[in-house]
Amino acid sequence: MKRLSFILSAALLLGFLPRAGADDWTGLGNGLPAAAAEFVANPPAPLFRAEGPRQLICVDAGHPNSFNSGLQPVSGTNETHINWQVALKLERILKERGFDVLMTKTAELQYVENKERALMANRGGAALCVHLHCESTPGTGFAIYYPDRQGVYEYKNDPDNGFKGPSGQVMTDSLALAGAMRKGMAQGLAGSLSDGGVRGDSRTQVGANQGALTFSIFSKIPTITIEMAVLTNPRDARFIKSEEGQEKTAQAIAAGILLYRTP
Ligand SMILES: [Zn+2]
Repeated sequence: MKRLSFILSAALLLGFLPRAGADDWTGLGNGLPAAAAEFVANPPAPLFRAEGPRQLICVDAGHPNSFNSGLQPVSGTNETHINWQVALKLERILKERGFDVLMTKTAELQYVENKERALMANRGGAALCVHLHCESTPGTGFAIYYPDRQGVYEYKNDPDNGFKGPSGQVMTDSLALAGAMRKGMAQGLAGSLSDGGVRGDSRTQVGANQGALTFSIFSKIPTITIEMAVLTNPRDARFIKSEEGQEKTAQAIAAGILLYRTP
């Protein structure tokens, strides 16, 4: 038992430390504001209920969009393909568990603008949205991003240029969803992928410029971005390219959604 807890602690440290930074949410209470740490440790009362009408979950397979096609070859695959494969599995699992699912794409190579991904979920009446992505930067493991501050959409030729969002409520609810998702994924992927924890959108390249990711800015519902694995990392790539790894990841994400519903 002692040996097990040592191995667990070591694994946690290895997973957390390489990514530590000032605004980096790498673990429970590790640099988190107290209220936020509480959310991550104990996701609050569910925002939607087990009983009653079926809930609609938005599953957004990231890319292609104007920012990135996601089609650059990485480790013998590409991000668009992996996102789509996991999205299809997640769709099936959620339906099996009694949810309705709103997919933002109907085909792997379908182009959808990031703003439109959020508007689709809002219009459709989804209870929450998970945006599925993979990293291609140095590192390893999964990480979950939520809007930690309001952003401003700045696209001069877009009628929504200057739009601010999301609301404080959406940020709070997204943080609760991120905490539940982290729990579900850490449990479901233990031994397969390291836990990169919960992080703010503002830590991403786009978030640093805009304040939040584009689909977070336009979201009226709890929204998180899941970087499921690091494709440039050979071990992560082997896992997420395999049928078994994709199924395990989709199961873990579904578990995170269920935790949010019934913590
Ligand atoms: Zn991506």
